[in-house]
Amino acid sequence: MDASSSREAHVSRHSGFDSRLAARWIRACAEEVSTHRDHLTQLDAAIGDADHGVNMDRGFSAALSGLDAIEGVPPGQVLQQTGATLMFRVGGAAGPLYGSAFRRAGEHLGDDASVGLEELLAALREGLAAMQSLGAAVEGDKTIIDAWLPAIGSLERELRAGADPDVVVRRAREAAEAGATATTAMQARKGRASYLGPRSVGHQDPGATSTALLFRALERAVNDP
Ligand code: ADP
Ligand code: MG
Repeated sequence: MDASSSREAHVSRHSGFDSRLAARWIRACAEEVSTHRDHLTQLDAAIGDADHGVNMDRGFSAALSGLDAIEGVPPGQVLQQTGATLMFRVGGAAGPLYGSAFRRAGEHLGDDASVGLEELLAALREGLAAMQSLGAAVEGDKTIIDAWLPAIGSLERELRAGADPDVVVRRAREAAEAGATATTAMQARKGRASYLGPRSVGHQDPGATSTALLFRALERAVNDP
């Protein structure tokens, strides 16, 4: 296979966000969250109540168990089902937030069997809007939003620039990680950490960190056929 035909195979393999890719994403989310459970909990111990890792692991394990039952259904329904599970099984502040994000993203995709990355971007942007209308956090409040929002911005820029799918998802993951890292310098203005006031400065936000894991999972899902 020459370089151009291998590139074509690569692009066509990744051109659609379908049922299998959606399931692969959720599976990778569950793996990332499980691997980093203790780290997330340690971050939450510093500025919260030390349950974020446990909460996320419980929720994504439940979402993972639900995947078998929904194999082959449209990707939008995979995300909606995942959102419903996260909503009730994660708990804390993050459960309703991530739950509504996945649910709204799934609703946006509807019943299409396969959508492009542009549609996935639009769905993730809807998910961001759902979290902001529920939690009223804006950029700089030291929350999930500080990782999710720059990831969306990056997806948009790279897709507009015509980048290959693997580059698009890699940059989104990098943007989410940079966003999570940047929360260290912020003072929390939403959620439990806000009770600490200035003492919340100097610690990385657990929710922004788990969001970076979800975008790392998306990168892995797109690149591991
Ligand atoms: P709890 O604070 O109830 O124990 P978790 O520990 O599971 O819930 O989640 C904490 C994370 O939730 C925080 O690190 C922060 O990123 C996120 N969070 C809290 N409130 C909000 C909000 N209003 N908007 C967005 N994210 C929020
Ligand atoms: Mg907590």
